[in-house]
Amino acid sequence: MGMYPDPPKPMKPFAPLYLAGALTLFLATHSPAEDAPKGALEKITAALPDKPYAKPQKERKILVFSKTNGFHHASIATGKVALEEMGKKTGAFQVVISDDLANFETDALKNFDAICFLSTTGNAFSPKKDELATMSEEDKKTAAERDARLKTNVMSFVKSGHGFIGIHAATDSFYEWAEYGKMINGYFAGHPWGSSVPVSIKVEPGQEKHPLVAMLNGENLEFPEEIYQFKEPYDSKAVHMLLRLDTTKTDMTRPGIKRTDGDFGISWARHWEKGRVFYSSLGHNNEIYWNPKVLGHFLAGIQWALGDYDVEVKDGK
Ligand SMILES: [Zn+2]
Repeated sequence: MGMYPDPPKPMKPFAPLYLAGALTLFLATHSPAEDAPKGALEKITAALPDKPYAKPQKERKILVFSKTNGFHHASIATGKVALEEMGKKTGAFQVVISDDLANFETDALKNFDAICFLSTTGNAFSPKKDELATMSEEDKKTAAERDARLKTNVMSFVKSGHGFIGIHAATDSFYEWAEYGKMINGYFAGHPWGSSVPVSIKVEPGQEKHPLVAMLNGENLEFPEEIYQFKEPYDSKAVHMLLRLDTTKTDMTRPGIKRTDGDFGISWARHWEKGRVFYSSLGHNNEIYWNPKVLGHFLAGIQWALGDYDVEVKDGK
């Protein structure tokens, strides 16, 4: 009290700087759980396995990317919570949730063991149409160069022995990137079964004991969910098929069914040179992310993609 001089008054920051600081703070503290439906975090935590299927060989980090340049799924927020909590509860991995394209530069990718495209849509490495319309020719050129560079980086990342995880609309993405289509094994060609249509999903016959689906005990998954039909370069023999639509227990009179071969794969795994790819088209509905069987299947697939789970995956080709 009077013994010390008054401390200097803090400088009043300029408003823009102040706002930028507040925004950074918001981004740093904003949890995806705040965007997910009420109670999602609790349901997800309760439904998740307690422990990993395999002991992580080292600390694992997954980049979860969910930028959209097309339809934006509301369930992305729920998927983020599920992946984050899966890592926390099982100790299998950590996630970095970010749509910052800088993460796909070569040096930044070195921080990750796998990348996950969670319901990305369109060319998520490119500015949106309305953004492009206002950009200078020079900026457009820079963006196009970055787009090409990031695609090369992702392919090198996977092929050199890392993991790639695709969830739901990851196949409704990057139509202009042929090698991506091959790696993920096909592109979205409509969803004859909409999100409220009850469907029955079976374990690929003969795979009942395969560790990536063994938690289903050979039983069908039955719930309403949006189910994709795939087009080229989809080839169910080029991957290790894990789950597919049970056409004997699902309404096959739905409008929009184009395939006549009954080949509606849902989850699969494959190698991609030295890398490992796990894809599941499940994940439209929020409820998918707190279904214990689906979460177990996702965890096993993710751990395999990370390289921690010694499981046989036969690509067929
Ligand atoms: Zn969807």
